[in-house]
Amino acid sequence: MALLFLLSAIVGIGMFVRNILKIRRNILIGKEEYRSDFPSRRWKLMFRIAIGQGKMMVRPVAGFLHIIVYVGFIIINIELVEIFIDGIFGTHRYIGHVFPPSLYNFITGTLDILSFLVMVSVTLFFIRRNITKVPRLNSKDLLGWPRMDGNLILIIEFLMMTALLSMNAADLTLQKIGINSPVGYFPVSDLIFGNIFSSFSEGSLLFIERSAWWFHYIGVLFFMNYLYFSKHLHILFAFPNTYYANLHKKGQLNNLESVTKEVKLMMDPNADPYAAAPENKVPEKFGASDVADLSRIQLLNAYTCTECGRCTSNCPANITGKKLSPRKIMMKVRDRIEEVGKNIDKNGSFVDDGKQLLGDYITEEELWACTSCNACVESCPVLINPLSIIVDLRRYLVLEKSAAPQELNMMMTNIENNSAPWQFSQSDRANWTKE
Ligand code: SF4
Ligand code: SF4
Repeated sequence: MALLFLLSAIVGIGMFVRNILKIRRNILIGKEEYRSDFPSRRWKLMFRIAIGQGKMMVRPVAGFLHIIVYVGFIIINIELVEIFIDGIFGTHRYIGHVFPPSLYNFITGTLDILSFLVMVSVTLFFIRRNITKVPRLNSKDLLGWPRMDGNLILIIEFLMMTALLSMNAADLTLQKIGINSPVGYFPVSDLIFGNIFSSFSEGSLLFIERSAWWFHYIGVLFFMNYLYFSKHLHILFAFPNTYYANLHKKGQLNNLESVTKEVKLMMDPNADPYAAAPENKVPEKFGASDVADLSRIQLLNAYTCTECGRCTSNCPANITGKKLSPRKIMMKVRDRIEEVGKNIDKNGSFVDDGKQLLGDYITEEELWACTSCNACVESCPVLINPLSIIVDLRRYLVLEKSAAPQELNMMMTNIENNSAPWQFSQSDRANWTKE
């Protein structure tokens, strides 16, 4: 059994590491962006938002339930330490025989109660998604796999908690009849399953206890590997994502470095535009049309998106019936980066597949519906910035394709010719003073 345990751990953890490395490779396809300044501010932000769930209580019911599941998830996994020791050495609740009974009872009692609270929370989440049908969790953005993913993860968590509670209750019943040595405190398991299990034979109890133990263990390994295909990747990526978040004011757009260089070159009378200096190198592209043109932070954002839809439910463009959904922008970026990653896996390096993010995944209509209001950025619980991606794609349309909407083109021509957005010549500017 120890061999089987170790083998499954090696396979499960090995696959998990491989998946994480694949995501890392995909993120590194993006452009470098310096976000390592102000480390102490960044650590604080990460503690407040990712660990402290600082933005979750804006919607109190969902926020409270999420905090229970999150705390439960972290604390219940402490149990894994014991599972690993028992699995490798064939012991039974090893830590219970090492720790003082009062401390071990406190730990197991807390885990038992938390497991039950997680079960209740995921049940309520399931009801919100499927019965009361909260609109942001039932929009067409989530048709197909995303909706199934949301439900699957709730079912997996429910089953894992059920396994944990039934394992505890079977163990406790075995302890009561003197088969297992008395260790641990399991108030909720006893309350739920105690009476039912009391009539079971010793063999049935041992079977339930062992199979629930294995189910929980294999469930954890399965869950780790399922993350790669799921929006639940955020339970890991929320930490780096909040650490590397934008610290500038939300309304402050970055200047394109390539454009800044071009302008400086134009304004410097001594500059030789033909000199072979690296700063004179013609940029490959202005703005972004595919994932490789986005920054690594933007790609990390896409992998971190929880698909919660808070951004879309606050987006004025979406609320007024436009095609734009910032959640969908993030989901599409992740779809495309995954497609590019598979292309690299297959061919060794990226081979042009005739597709790109702009046009094949995100339409111009969506991009131009954005008002740049930042409501999506403000409402995101893990500090994702869909607007920055929209702006970079629009920059490409304007600077590379001259494909801005007619109104914008007129305004830009006016600025160029008249130094103002209106169609009046500069010499007429003071006309209003004459009367
Ligand atoms: S910035 Fe754009 S995408 Fe974000 S909420 Fe405002 S309109 Fe919607
Ligand atoms: S971008 Fe943020 S708010 Fe929008 S769906 Fe993703 S996690 Fe939720």
